Order: sequence, then C-alpha cells, then structure tokens
Amino acid sequence: MVKLEELETKGKPNWCPGCGNYSIWNSLKQAISELGLKPENIVMTSGIGCSSKLPHWIKVNCFNGLHGRPLPLAMGVKLANNDLTVIADGGDGDGYAEGGNHFIHFCRSNADITYLVHDNQIYGLTKGQASPTSDEGFMTKTTPFGVIERAINPVLLAIASGATFVARGYAGDQKHLVQLMKAAILHKGAAVLDILQPCVTFNKKNTYEWYQKRVYKIKPLKTRISAMKKAEEWGDKIPIGVFYQSREKTYTERMPHMKTALIKSDYKINISKLLKELK
Ligand code: SF4
Repeated sequence: MVKLEELETKGKPNWCPGCGNYSIWNSLKQAISELGLKPENIVMTSGIGCSSKLPHWIKVNCFNGLHGRPLPLAMGVKLANNDLTVIADGGDGDGYAEGGNHFIHFCRSNADITYLVHDNQIYGLTKGQASPTSDEGFMTKTTPFGVIERAINPVLLAIASGATFVARGYAGDQKHLVQLMKAAILHKGAAVLDILQPCVTFNKKNTYEWYQKRVYKIKPLKTRISAMKKAEEWGDKIPIGVFYQSREKTYTERMPHMKTALIKSDYKINISKLLKELK
C-alpha cells in the first residue's frame, strides 16, 4: 500500500483557503493509498481550471492539456496502454461546457476511465463567471440579471448517455467521498463522479452551509430509469452516492485486437513515410 506521504509533491496547492478542492485532493490520495495502487501505474489527465491543477500536486503521472480536453487525453492513454489506471480530472466549466461533447461520447464509449468533476457551479480560475451547472437565476459578473438557461444535470446526462458508473459526492463529506472514489476507480467501464465542491471565493450561494442542509445519502438504484428519476431531484434535497452501476463490456473489451495493451502488442505499422510527409 502506497503511503500518503509517498503521494506528496514538493509543491503544495495554491487554492484559496477553505476551497472544496482540498478535500477532493486529500480524498483522492486516501483512495489511491487504500486501494493499494502503484503510483507509477496511474495516469491523471486534466484541462484548465482550479480543479485541473490537482494532478500537479499528487505524485502520479500527469498530462495537463487544453481546456475541456481531459477525456480525449485519457482515452488516448487508455488505448495505448489499457493496463494503466486512468483518471481524468476537471471542473464543471471545463468538463460540461468546453468539454461537453467529449463528456457525452465518453459516457457512451464505456471506456474504462474514471472521470472526477469538481462541480462548484461556477468558473473559479477566471474569477466567477456562470458555468453550465450554475442554478437558473444565479447572478454573476457575466449574468448580472441571473442565468437565463436551465442548469445541466451532469448525473442525469451521464446516466442517459450510457455511463456504467454514475455517482455524486460532496467535498464536505470526505469519508463518503473516499468510498465513492474507490468504487469509481475499481469499476470496469466509464465511471463519472460529479463532486459538489464549494468555491468559497466566487460562489456565495452554493456554500458548505447550503449543501450541508440539503445533501443526503442514497444507495444505488436498480435500473437506469429509476436512477434517472432519482437524478432529477435537486433543490431542497440533493442526493449523493452511487446512482447507477452496471457491468457491461468496456470500449476495449469490444475490440478483440485490444485484448493486449497496444504497447505490448506485436501489431506493428511503419509510420516513418507518413511522418516524413507531415514534416
Ligand atoms: Fe477554489 Fe474558488 Fe478559489 Fe478556485 S477560486 S481555488 S475553486 S475557492
């Protein structure tokens, strides 16, 4: 079992004091340690945002890419070496706006990847603009009269799009979050974990107090339809926990030639001619 200290980096997070990201960061280290995973076999991918900096401060392999692109990167890593544990990480702006299209296609692919979304219902790094999960009517600098559109419901969208593990966690309940992260990482298939993460600096509505009064724990629902029904609940009561889980063939399990990791396969193509052309 990797010790927590072994996952520490020299640099320390520079999130605002009290930010929900600290709890997500600590939970992930705890989950990796408790699962006994080897850091060298883990790859984290991320995009842009406060949340996307998390992989900088945990000693595993990391590829920090463009805004909204943690999932295509994760997919590339998984296809190259499906023996690796691949964790994509990002925020609600990164993942549901810039990366919204990737999100849907990731869910339907059922690729064996864990996707952690720090959902603070706002763009934090760019200093407080409305995100796709901002509540309708929520006032920000860019929406002085309140958000006009309805908020995206990521849990509902993930279930409807075919993800085979869909859960919601809360940064204010670290013990529960660690359990959810462990279950998501162990799951074979597309695992989406949307994490309610208070942004103490720019979101003065969805605070720890606000969530604390509303969140309650649920057990996994039996069918996709019943899970979708439960996922519709948002407001005075907000369910957290695993909504839906099923074991179905993963993306690579549906491709016979992917039984062996690509890097270990003897299937070779000479691409030197192509590379020459691209020069
Ligand atoms: Fe956290 Fe918000 Fe500060 Fe970003 S701006 S570090 S999300 S509190």
